Amino acid sequence: MAVEPLIEMHEVNKYFGELHVLQDIDLTVGKGEVVVVIGPSGSGKSTLCRAINRLEPIRSGTILLDGQPLPDEGKALAALRADVGMVFQSFNLFAHKTVLQNVSLGQIKVRKRKKEDADRRSRELLHRVGLADQAPKYPAQLSGGQQQRVAIARALAMDPKVMLFDEPTSALDPEMISEVLDVMQQLAREGMTMVVVTHEMGFARSAANRVVFMADGRIVEDRAPDAFFTDPESDRAKDFLSKIL
Ligand code: ADP
Ligand code: MG
Repeated sequence: MAVEPLIEMHEVNKYFGELHVLQDIDLTVGKGEVVVVIGPSGSGKSTLCRAINRLEPIRSGTILLDGQPLPDEGKALAALRADVGMVFQSFNLFAHKTVLQNVSLGQIKVRKRKKEDADRRSRELLHRVGLADQAPKYPAQLSGGQQQRVAIARALAMDPKVMLFDEPTSALDPEMISEVLDVMQQLAREGMTMVVVTHEMGFARSAANRVVFMADGRIVEDRAPDAFFTDPESDRAKDFLSKIL
Protein backbone atom coordinates (compact mmCIF):
# COMPACT_ATOMS: atom_id res chain seq x y z
CA MET A 1 0.00 0.00 0.00
CA ALA A 2 1.77 3.13 -1.22
CA VAL A 3 0.10 5.62 1.07
CA GLU A 4 1.72 8.72 2.45
CA PRO A 5 3.03 8.23 5.99
CA LEU A 6 1.29 10.15 8.75
CA ILE A 7 3.27 8.82 11.71
CA GLU A 8 6.89 7.75 11.34
CA MET A 9 8.79 6.40 14.32
CA HIS A 10 12.41 5.58 13.72
CA GLU A 11 14.67 3.83 16.24
CA VAL A 12 12.71 5.20 19.16
CA ASN A 13 14.04 4.33 22.60
CA LYS A 14 12.60 5.20 25.96
CA TYR A 15 13.55 4.28 29.52
CA PHE A 16 11.78 4.53 32.84
CA GLY A 17 14.83 4.52 35.07
CA GLU A 18 16.57 1.26 34.25
CA LEU A 19 13.59 -0.16 32.41
CA HIS A 20 14.04 -0.04 28.65
CA VAL A 21 10.37 0.35 27.86
CA LEU A 22 10.55 1.17 24.13
CA GLN A 23 13.38 -0.56 22.30
CA ASP A 24 14.35 0.51 18.79
CA ILE A 25 10.78 1.08 17.72
CA ASP A 26 10.32 1.48 13.97
CA LEU A 27 6.72 2.06 13.03
CA THR A 28 5.08 3.84 10.14
CA VAL A 29 1.36 4.50 10.00
CA GLY A 30 0.03 5.63 6.63
CA LYS A 31 -2.76 8.14 6.08
CA GLY A 32 -6.08 6.37 6.48
CA GLU A 33 -4.50 3.27 7.96
CA VAL A 34 -5.83 1.51 11.03
CA VAL A 35 -3.13 -0.12 13.11
CA VAL A 36 -4.12 -2.27 16.06
CA VAL A 37 -1.46 -2.70 18.75
CA ILE A 38 -1.68 -5.78 20.95
CA GLY A 39 0.57 -7.49 23.43
CA PRO A 40 0.90 -8.53 27.05
CA SER A 41 0.39 -6.10 29.89
CA GLY A 42 3.54 -4.06 30.49
CA SER A 43 4.88 -4.54 26.95
CA GLY A 44 4.91 -0.79 26.25
CA LYS A 45 1.68 -0.23 24.30
CA SER A 46 0.49 2.76 26.32
CA THR A 47 3.95 4.28 26.36
CA LEU A 48 4.10 3.96 22.58
CA CYS A 49 0.81 5.85 22.23
CA ARG A 50 1.89 8.49 24.70
CA ALA A 51 5.19 8.98 22.90
CA ILE A 52 3.28 9.80 19.71
CA ASN A 53 1.79 12.94 21.23
CA ARG A 54 4.76 13.70 23.48
CA LEU A 55 2.98 12.88 26.69
CA GLU A 56 6.15 10.84 27.23
CA PRO A 57 9.54 12.19 26.20
CA ILE A 58 11.83 9.72 24.44
CA ARG A 59 15.53 9.06 24.97
CA SER A 60 16.53 8.73 21.34
CA GLY A 61 15.15 8.28 17.87
CA THR A 62 12.79 10.38 15.79
CA ILE A 63 9.03 10.70 15.54
CA LEU A 64 7.48 12.57 12.64
CA LEU A 65 3.85 13.54 12.35
CA ASP A 66 2.81 14.37 8.82
CA GLY A 67 6.46 14.84 7.90
CA GLN A 68 7.25 17.20 10.80
CA PRO A 69 9.33 16.33 13.87
CA LEU A 70 7.38 16.44 17.11
CA PRO A 71 7.97 19.76 18.86
CA ASP A 72 9.31 19.62 22.42
CA GLU A 73 7.30 22.38 24.02
CA GLY A 74 5.29 25.55 23.76
CA LYS A 75 2.67 26.49 21.21
CA ALA A 76 3.94 24.03 18.65
CA LEU A 77 3.45 21.21 21.11
CA ALA A 78 -0.08 22.35 21.91
CA ALA A 79 -0.80 22.42 18.18
CA LEU A 80 0.57 18.92 17.82
CA ARG A 81 -1.61 17.66 20.66
CA ALA A 82 -4.63 19.15 18.94
CA ASP A 83 -3.77 17.18 15.80
CA VAL A 84 -3.48 13.90 17.68
CA GLY A 85 -6.78 12.88 19.23
CA MET A 86 -6.47 10.58 22.19
CA VAL A 87 -9.04 8.37 23.87
CA PHE A 88 -8.09 6.53 27.04
CA GLN A 89 -9.54 3.71 29.06
CA SER A 90 -10.80 6.26 31.59
CA PHE A 91 -12.97 8.77 29.84
CA ASN A 92 -11.60 11.88 31.59
CA LEU A 93 -14.63 14.04 30.94
CA PHE A 94 -15.11 17.23 32.94
CA ALA A 95 -17.64 16.21 35.58
CA HIS A 96 -19.02 19.71 36.13
CA LYS A 97 -19.58 20.46 32.46
CA THR A 98 -22.38 19.21 30.28
CA VAL A 99 -21.82 16.77 27.46
CA LEU A 100 -22.11 19.64 24.97
CA GLN A 101 -19.63 21.79 26.92
CA ASN A 102 -17.21 18.88 27.13
CA VAL A 103 -17.17 18.57 23.35
CA SER A 104 -17.07 22.31 22.68
CA LEU A 105 -14.42 23.39 25.18
CA GLY A 106 -11.27 22.44 23.27
CA GLN A 107 -12.66 23.82 20.05
CA ILE A 108 -13.14 27.21 21.69
CA LYS A 109 -9.87 27.27 23.67
CA VAL A 110 -7.47 25.57 21.28
CA ARG A 111 -9.09 25.89 17.86
CA LYS A 112 -10.37 29.40 18.68
CA ARG A 113 -13.84 28.74 17.34
CA LYS A 114 -16.77 30.92 18.29
CA LYS A 115 -19.03 29.27 20.82
CA GLU A 116 -21.94 28.89 18.44
CA ASP A 117 -19.72 27.34 15.76
CA ALA A 118 -18.19 24.98 18.31
CA ASP A 119 -21.61 24.01 19.64
CA ARG A 120 -22.89 23.36 16.13
CA ARG A 121 -19.96 21.08 15.41
CA SER A 122 -20.38 19.38 18.80
CA ARG A 123 -24.01 18.62 18.04
CA GLU A 124 -23.06 17.12 14.67
CA LEU A 125 -20.50 14.90 16.33
CA LEU A 126 -22.80 13.90 19.16
CA HIS A 127 -25.32 12.91 16.52
CA ARG A 128 -22.64 10.89 14.76
CA VAL A 129 -21.81 8.91 17.92
CA GLY A 130 -25.49 8.34 18.65
CA LEU A 131 -25.83 10.84 21.51
CA ALA A 132 -27.72 13.73 19.97
CA ASP A 133 -30.23 13.78 22.82
CA GLN A 134 -27.63 13.69 25.62
CA ALA A 135 -26.12 17.14 25.01
CA PRO A 136 -27.55 18.89 28.12
CA LYS A 137 -26.70 16.07 30.55
CA TYR A 138 -23.70 15.74 32.85
CA PRO A 139 -21.23 12.87 32.48
CA ALA A 140 -22.38 11.13 35.67
CA GLN A 141 -25.87 10.80 34.16
CA LEU A 142 -24.49 8.73 31.27
CA SER A 143 -23.45 5.09 31.07
CA GLY A 144 -19.78 4.23 30.61
CA GLY A 145 -20.32 3.45 26.96
CA GLN A 146 -22.03 6.78 26.43
CA GLN A 147 -19.26 8.64 28.26
CA GLN A 148 -16.64 6.98 26.10
CA ARG A 149 -18.56 8.01 22.98
CA VAL A 150 -18.58 11.61 24.28
CA ALA A 151 -14.80 11.33 24.74
CA ILE A 152 -14.51 10.19 21.12
CA ALA A 153 -16.69 13.07 19.93
CA ARG A 154 -14.59 15.49 21.95
CA ALA A 155 -11.38 14.23 20.36
CA LEU A 156 -12.92 14.36 16.86
CA ALA A 157 -14.08 17.92 17.45
CA MET A 158 -10.48 19.08 17.17
CA ASP A 159 -10.32 17.72 13.61
CA PRO A 160 -7.33 15.54 14.44
CA LYS A 161 -5.09 14.04 11.79
CA VAL A 162 -4.92 10.80 13.73
CA MET A 163 -6.83 9.20 16.58
CA LEU A 164 -5.06 7.16 19.24
CA PHE A 165 -7.16 4.78 21.30
CA ASP A 166 -5.62 3.19 24.38
CA GLU A 167 -7.83 0.30 25.49
CA PRO A 168 -10.99 2.36 25.01
CA THR A 169 -13.33 -0.48 25.98
CA SER A 170 -11.38 -2.07 28.83
CA ALA A 171 -13.26 -0.24 31.56
CA LEU A 172 -16.71 -0.91 30.09
CA ASP A 173 -19.33 -3.44 31.01
CA PRO A 174 -19.56 -6.09 28.29
CA GLU A 175 -22.88 -4.90 26.91
CA MET A 176 -21.44 -1.44 26.23
CA ILE A 177 -18.34 -2.51 24.37
CA SER A 178 -19.97 -2.91 20.98
CA GLU A 179 -21.53 0.57 20.96
CA VAL A 180 -18.03 2.04 21.28
CA LEU A 181 -16.45 -0.38 18.81
CA ASP A 182 -19.21 0.41 16.30
CA VAL A 183 -18.32 4.10 16.42
CA MET A 184 -14.64 3.25 15.94
CA GLN A 185 -15.45 0.89 13.08
CA GLN A 186 -17.42 3.66 11.41
CA LEU A 187 -14.51 6.08 11.82
CA ALA A 188 -12.17 3.55 10.27
CA ARG A 189 -14.49 3.15 7.31
CA GLU A 190 -14.58 6.91 6.84
CA GLY A 191 -10.82 6.89 6.42
CA MET A 192 -9.60 8.17 9.79
CA THR A 193 -6.00 7.26 10.58
CA MET A 194 -6.11 5.27 13.80
CA VAL A 195 -3.76 3.57 16.24
CA VAL A 196 -5.77 1.34 18.54
CA VAL A 197 -4.50 -0.56 21.56
CA THR A 198 -7.15 -3.15 22.28
CA HIS A 199 -7.80 -6.71 23.33
CA GLU A 200 -10.87 -6.83 21.09
CA MET A 201 -9.65 -9.25 18.48
CA GLY A 202 -12.90 -9.08 16.52
CA PHE A 203 -12.25 -5.40 15.99
CA ALA A 204 -8.64 -6.09 15.02
CA ARG A 205 -9.72 -8.64 12.45
CA SER A 206 -12.44 -6.54 10.90
CA ALA A 207 -11.05 -2.99 11.08
CA ALA A 208 -7.27 -3.20 11.13
CA ASN A 209 -5.00 -2.90 8.13
CA ARG A 210 -2.16 -4.12 10.30
CA VAL A 211 -1.65 -5.74 13.66
CA VAL A 212 1.44 -4.74 15.62
CA PHE A 213 2.35 -7.21 18.33
CA MET A 214 4.56 -5.89 21.15
CA ALA A 215 6.47 -7.74 23.84
CA ASP A 216 9.06 -6.39 26.28
CA GLY A 217 9.21 -2.99 24.64
CA ARG A 218 9.77 -4.29 21.14
CA ILE A 219 7.64 -4.67 18.06
CA VAL A 220 7.80 -8.41 17.49
CA GLU A 221 5.38 -8.68 14.57
CA ASP A 222 3.80 -6.12 12.23
CA ARG A 223 1.47 -7.87 9.81
CA ALA A 224 -1.91 -8.09 8.16
CA PRO A 225 -4.52 -9.29 10.67
CA ASP A 226 -5.40 -12.48 8.80
CA ALA A 227 -1.78 -13.54 8.58
CA PHE A 228 -1.13 -12.66 12.19
CA PHE A 229 -4.12 -14.47 13.64
CA THR A 230 -3.91 -17.59 11.51
CA ASP A 231 -0.16 -17.94 11.47
CA PRO A 232 1.72 -15.96 14.13
CA GLU A 233 5.46 -16.23 13.55
CA SER A 234 6.91 -15.67 16.99
CA ASP A 235 6.57 -17.86 20.05
CA ARG A 236 5.63 -14.78 22.06
CA ALA A 237 2.67 -14.08 19.79
CA LYS A 238 1.59 -17.73 19.71
CA ASP A 239 1.69 -17.84 23.48
CA PHE A 240 -0.23 -14.56 23.78
CA LEU A 241 -2.91 -15.61 21.31
CA SER A 242 -3.36 -18.99 22.99
CA LYS A 243 -4.21 -17.15 26.20
CA ILE A 244 -6.68 -14.64 24.83
CA LEU A 245 -8.47 -16.43 21.98
P1 ADP B 1 1.17 -1.63 28.43
O1 ADP B 1 0.34 -0.47 28.05
O2 ADP B 1 1.59 -2.49 27.30
O3 ADP B 1 0.55 -2.46 29.53
P2 ADP B 1 2.94 0.41 29.50
O4 ADP B 1 3.41 1.17 28.34
O5 ADP B 1 1.88 1.00 30.35
O6 ADP B 1 2.54 -1.07 29.04
O7 ADP B 1 4.16 0.10 30.47
C1 ADP B 1 5.36 -0.48 30.01
C2 ADP B 1 6.29 -0.67 31.20
O8 ADP B 1 6.67 0.61 31.69
C3 ADP B 1 5.67 -1.43 32.35
O9 ADP B 1 6.67 -2.24 32.94
C4 ADP B 1 5.25 -0.33 33.29
O10 ADP B 1 5.25 -0.79 34.61
C5 ADP B 1 6.33 0.71 33.06
N1 ADP B 1 5.83 2.08 33.27
C6 ADP B 1 4.79 2.67 32.66
N2 ADP B 1 4.64 3.94 33.04
C7 ADP B 1 5.63 4.18 33.93
C8 ADP B 1 6.03 5.32 34.68
N3 ADP B 1 5.38 6.49 34.59
N4 ADP B 1 7.10 5.19 35.50
C9 ADP B 1 7.77 4.03 35.59
N5 ADP B 1 7.46 2.92 34.91
C10 ADP B 1 6.40 2.98 34.09
MG1 MG C 1 -1.53 0.12 28.65
